Amino acid sequence: MTTATRIYNFSAGPATLPLPVLEEVQRDLIALPGVGMSILEISHRSKPFDRIIQAAVADIRALAGVPANYKVLFLQGGASMQFSMVPMNLLTAGTTADYILTGSWSQKAMKEAKKVGAVNVAATTEGEQFTRIPAQSALKLTPGAAYVHMTSNNTIFGTEWAGLPDVGGAPLVNDASSDIFSRPIDIAKHGLIYAGAQKNLGPSGVTLVIIREDLLARSAASLPTMLSYAVHAENDSLYNTPPTFGIYMLGLVVKWIANQGGLAAMAALNERKAGKLYAEIDRSGFYRGTAQKDSRSRMNVTFRLPSEDLEKKFIQEATAAGFDGLKGHRSVGGVRASIYNAFPEAGIDGLVAFMQEFERKNG
Ligand SMILES: *Cc1c(COP(=O)(O)O)cnc(C)c1O
Repeated sequence: MTTATRIYNFSAGPATLPLPVLEEVQRDLIALPGVGMSILEISHRSKPFDRIIQAAVADIRALAGVPANYKVLFLQGGASMQFSMVPMNLLTAGTTADYILTGSWSQKAMKEAKKVGAVNVAATTEGEQFTRIPAQSALKLTPGAAYVHMTSNNTIFGTEWAGLPDVGGAPLVNDASSDIFSRPIDIAKHGLIYAGAQKNLGPSGVTLVIIREDLLARSAASLPTMLSYAVHAENDSLYNTPPTFGIYMLGLVVKWIANQGGLAAMAALNERKAGKLYAEIDRSGFYRGTAQKDSRSRMNVTFRLPSEDLEKKFIQEATAAGFDGLKGHRSVGGVRASIYNAFPEAGIDGLVAFMQEFERKNG
């Protein structure tokens, strides 16, 4: 298969990766330059891999301006494993964790925390089908909370926080799986950030965790070893065999983002890309955005058509025209265009033209 046959992939994840990264991986897959072995074959304790993982950490630090008192970790188990690891490590006896519920992923995160300790719902927009992000004034925070958990982008509902909430002195824990490194991020305002790689960072199988060092003291010695942030931090993500290929690719994606001009440039591009789709959605009454305007996501653009039959037809014809993965999440239906960092702007232009043609024929 050549690059000429690539179609536009609107999948929510695993998702489109930067073509130059795929080409580099393909070129070097049989033998890494200067190593003579594939990335898939070398020891995680070898010098070449040490260079790869250290470069990935250094490049993440530079790209996101990670302060010196934060650790950058590569873990496994996806964002879903973090739903458990966060409370197991940080929700110590006698404390309460605050959860801001903005969609299915934050609900799942809270469900795991409840198995560990006391949890408070600081805010929820479930009553409005998660069509918006709660206002700062709606947050009911627990004084002295162990942490406050948020989800910066709601992949299923197509909403995104415009900025970070003010949570007082409590560590802010952010599930940034679906918008990490899509815009500048103030790491110092967080206690912990986690993100499964398969939306904005690389292939599935590796999860990025950025944790403030003082929080590592909360990891009890009684925790299962593999579930302890302190263990992974002490061992620089090499306690056991890490997902070596995923870390290698994540490193290449981070380099690619830096080459695009870094996070500010990424933000400008993402604004423009999402803006084109929302402009088309708002242009006539045929398409209807599901998220409230001030809460719209730049990563997952969700919309409806006048009927479910038309939605079915739209998705079928779009797929046939080379626009794949537009079906909304099975829990909400409708249409969802996931347009992460690596999704090409030409694919957005193509979809907009398709939407106009579809409306002309069916409107
Ligand atoms: C996709 C996603 C998850 C689940 O990620 P896994 O790596 O499959 O566990 C969690 N949170 C958010 C916000 C997501 O988009």
